[in-house]
Amino acid sequence: AAGKTIRTYFDGTWHDGDIPIMRAADHGAWLGTTVFDGARYFEGVAPDLDRHCERVNASARALDLEPSADAETMVQLVWEGLAGFAPDAAVYIRPMYWAIDGDATTVAALGNTRFAICLEEIPFAPADATVRLTRTRFRRPVLEDAVVNAKAGCLYPNNARMLREAQSRGYQNALVADAMGNVAESATSNVFMVRDGEILTPIANGTFLAGITRSRHMQNLAADGTPVREAVLTFRDFEEADEVFLTGNMNKITPVTEFDGTHYQVGPVARRARELYWDWALSKGTA
Ligand code: PMP
Repeated sequence: AAGKTIRTYFDGTWHDGDIPIMRAADHGAWLGTTVFDGARYFEGVAPDLDRHCERVNASARALDLEPSADAETMVQLVWEGLAGFAPDAAVYIRPMYWAIDGDATTVAALGNTRFAICLEEIPFAPADATVRLTRTRFRRPVLEDAVVNAKAGCLYPNNARMLREAQSRGYQNALVADAMGNVAESATSNVFMVRDGEILTPIANGTFLAGITRSRHMQNLAADGTPVREAVLTFRDFEEADEVFLTGNMNKITPVTEFDGTHYQVGPVARRARELYWDWALSKGTA
């Protein structure tokens, strides 16, 4: 199939293409009161789609917004929309809500939302793709600073700054500190490291997105006899790692080959985690 396919669910029906969905007066448009989630379809499966649909509703509630679609309905809608894609397409599934009104002169949004789903054909990174990381000078906020308990659009301009900073230094992504100065995650994904045969990941302390893919890898690895330990991890710890890898819905797992001058090989744990993820996804990940 030529060209990238995009389909949009809005106003109760599926539309072909990337259609306009926001209005100038929508609170989401001018004040950024938006939440979203990201999931994946490939090879006939949409791994953990149910959990992604539940999470976007939880994100809405964290901002006192009304989630108008229950998670089961949302899953159904996504499958209806996916029927418009080639069976071999890899699709990024993005449900979203945004606030549509508050008083036009005030910042506080009412609970009223609009809902859309964007399905966009985006291929996976090649299976042998790797990434190089730097340490960003930006930080994850805490709950008093920002709505870190939601996957809110307004958090992402800061992550974009981390990526641009990393790119300006010749890296592709960045490790970011939490408020305590320990490693939280990357700008777009969660992080794992392996040291002396032990698999470690930062403790989900509420200041970063403890991802659905992170938790799925932890379940898979535990079932395979190599449980992951959540720990307070410093940047120094990453200089002593044997393996580092990132996880997130978009590409599931990406080995890291460098962190600010410390080099890593693509190792057996990342390879095994990738294999376990795909085995699980293709057998049970249908959602
Ligand atoms: N952290 C951030 C900042 C992210 O944007 C993402 C992608 N949603 C993740 C972690 C990974 O989360 P998940 O596995 O749920 O996609």
